[in-house]
Amino acid sequence: MFEALTKAPGDKILALMGEYSADSRSTKIDLGVGVYKDENGVTPVMKAVRKAEERMLSNEKTKTYLGIAGNKGYGAAVIDLVVADSADSARIRVAQAPGGTGSLWVLMQLINRARPGATIHVSDPTWANHNPIAINSGLKVATYPYFDPATRGVKFEQMLAALDQLGAGDVVLLHGCCHNPTGANLTEAQWDQVAQSLAKTGALPFIDLAYLGFGDGIEPDAYGTRKILSTVPEALIAFSGSKNFGLYRERVGAAILMARNSDEADIANSQLLNIIRGAYSQPPDHGAEIIRTILDDAALRAEWEEELATMRNRMILLRKKLADAIRERSNSTDFDFVADHRGMFSLLGLTNDAVDHLKAENGVYMTGDSRINIAGIPEDRVGDLAAAFLGALR
Ligand code: PMP
Repeated sequence: MFEALTKAPGDKILALMGEYSADSRSTKIDLGVGVYKDENGVTPVMKAVRKAEERMLSNEKTKTYLGIAGNKGYGAAVIDLVVADSADSARIRVAQAPGGTGSLWVLMQLINRARPGATIHVSDPTWANHNPIAINSGLKVATYPYFDPATRGVKFEQMLAALDQLGAGDVVLLHGCCHNPTGANLTEAQWDQVAQSLAKTGALPFIDLAYLGFGDGIEPDAYGTRKILSTVPEALIAFSGSKNFGLYRERVGAAILMARNSDEADIANSQLLNIIRGAYSQPPDHGAEIIRTILDDAALRAEWEEELATMRNRMILLRKKLADAIRERSNSTDFDFVADHRGMFSLLGLTNDAVDHLKAENGVYMTGDSRINIAGIPEDRVGDLAAAFLGALR
């Protein structure tokens, strides 16, 4: 059987992690893999998460099955967090799913059941896993203009012009906040225009919400998602609890759908549950119950929000420090965009040669597209890093 196979391409980020661990220089800096790190370079278990787990350990009475949609209390709490009062709850359905990735997967399968071979339009560039998930779900992928390498901002006029051309059978994948890999995001006024465009063309918005709370705060980060929900008849959302709850390996996410009315929501939801049943039957509970415990308890929720704010503010501070350090050394504002970007990443717009140079000469690791993980910047070595970036540009 297996002799018919050829080797699949390896994962680029995992390969980069391997190269980084094999590098013996004590001064090396890892700006590659997309996980939050604190000032000690550690991806911590949040205190609110630990407390929730302690409660669960003493309160849990059974480990029997929960059902295809997973933890119901979790689903309700996530709807409350993400959707709030932006849409009529009678039109919304939610299924817990394994991570943001699992949520994207089951929702793309749903799109393919509704419109086999539909085209999903993704930003140029987008998260490297969007394309394979879409292709593996039977969808076609196209791109819309997004990142402007000249300004390192969003090419908004071109983006909007492209969205205005779409039709009712099209799907538009939008990063709800904290765009990966670029760090360049839409303003509230731009979200308003995107929502209007979608309402006009009838294209289906599919929001990937993997970093809620990592940009400017839970409410501002939810603005675009809620604006779209309150403007269009139908939408899909893939929520991830990996980053904002630090639950990466627990695989917790949610697939959310909004239909035109309750009857259509029930029908679409029955298909979604059917897809899940035929794939992995039911999602794992642990991470979902952690999130439910936190969101349903005022004190734990306040503690989580504070820890989330600490992570967010640290990334904003590191952005500012890096931009300041580069400005001081270069007398130019060319890298000020780093301070304006939000979320865990910024796309620096360096050439492949510059990325290779940084790795070879300075032990600074980033993905080949020159995306840096802001949380990986060592605060006490921002100056070294600024000098290394400027050296690689020369
Ligand atoms: N979407 C985007 C844009 C992401 O960056 C990620 C995580 N790297 C995900 C979805 C999925 O995350 P997970 O499956 O780990 O929850």
